Amino acid sequence: MSKPYRPLLFCALLLAAIPAAAQDTAAFQRCLGGLEADAEQHGVSAAAYQRYTAGLVPDMSVIDALNHQPEFSTPVWDYLSGLVDQERVDDGKAMLGQWSDVLAHVQQRYGVDPATVTAVWGVESNYGRQFGKRPLVPSLATLSCIGRRQAYFRGEFYAALRILQSGDIRPEQFNGSWAGAFGHTQFMPSIFEKMAVDFDGDGRRDLIGSVPDALASTAHYLQLSHWQSGQPWGYEVKLPEHFDSKISGREAKKSLAYWREHGVRRIDGSALADSDTPAGLLLPAGANGPAFLVFRNFDAIYAYNASISYSLAVALLSDRLRGQAGLVARWPTDDPGTSRAERRELQRLLIARGHDIGEPDGMIGDKTREAIVQEDQRAGLPTDGRAGQRILAALRAGSHGGGAGP
Ligand code: CA
Repeated sequence: MSKPYRPLLFCALLLAAIPAAAQDTAAFQRCLGGLEADAEQHGVSAAAYQRYTAGLVPDMSVIDALNHQPEFSTPVWDYLSGLVDQERVDDGKAMLGQWSDVLAHVQQRYGVDPATVTAVWGVESNYGRQFGKRPLVPSLATLSCIGRRQAYFRGEFYAALRILQSGDIRPEQFNGSWAGAFGHTQFMPSIFEKMAVDFDGDGRRDLIGSVPDALASTAHYLQLSHWQSGQPWGYEVKLPEHFDSKISGREAKKSLAYWREHGVRRIDGSALADSDTPAGLLLPAGANGPAFLVFRNFDAIYAYNASISYSLAVALLSDRLRGQAGLVARWPTDDPGTSRAERRELQRLLIARGHDIGEPDGMIGDKTREAIVQEDQRAGLPTDGRAGQRILAALRAGSHGGGAGP
């Protein structure tokens, strides 16, 4: 190598010697400086910006979460069997009793019934038991400066700072999911600003510390999403044989009279009303699984979280909280889903076989799924890593001889 290049080589070596983390931190601090310069135009005072961002360092684990592509897809019946299980029905009924006065007032003010509001609460945060534990400001600052959705997260970052500045939420309580959803109802900061209400009258809109504020904010959200008071979300239906299921989907609404003409009946066999009420035919697992007709109120739930599986979980849980029975039709699978109690049992059986999957918390993460794949192989089952009834039964049977306790 000729002499003139040496200083360049030296610089390159020097740069390479600076740990990547330090380079990240320097870039992060530059980015925070840019965000600070724009803070006032986003309604955050200089003093508030400095108070709530002092000493911030990037939290790269939220970028890992942002980039995480689940290795295993979740069939709708697995999703629903964990979210609409007996435990959540029992807990929800207890909450309906405990908060009956508040829920009655919420219904008076916003027109949304107690079972629906409570079902959203149960699916969003397990009735306030699962808020997420990550401090919101560091998460949103990191997502604002690193990764692939910075523009979106900057809006949420400034919204989070405005919420702190307003005094609605106390800084030490401002924790949530990696993406910034927080409180009983898991609102994002920008949604909080539009939808949250102070229902207990203490002057603060507090979705973390106040159940009345959270329940009323949920109802307010549904009301603004055009909830129709006193109307059902939909119901399970029975299709005629050889039904042409080309017209289906939440948005492809036809009149009840149309579906009636085409042989669709209520699940108990009774006839649909001969009315012009628009209804969409939902076939979440295809024409051989459960079928539903859904009305405008299903769309309101969908507005809360744009996922058919999510909306069905809330809808079906609300029915169970009203004392109705669960689904009649079976999902098209030979390996039905498990409740959270069964998932905890499955995890205890995996731990007893030496799998290092952490605490048996009923949450099926990648570690649990990888352990299930190994046990699938051992048992000669399809290696899909599903926490279903099939592997649970196999492990239960194996544990009798193996001495694995609960
Ligand atoms: Ca309040």
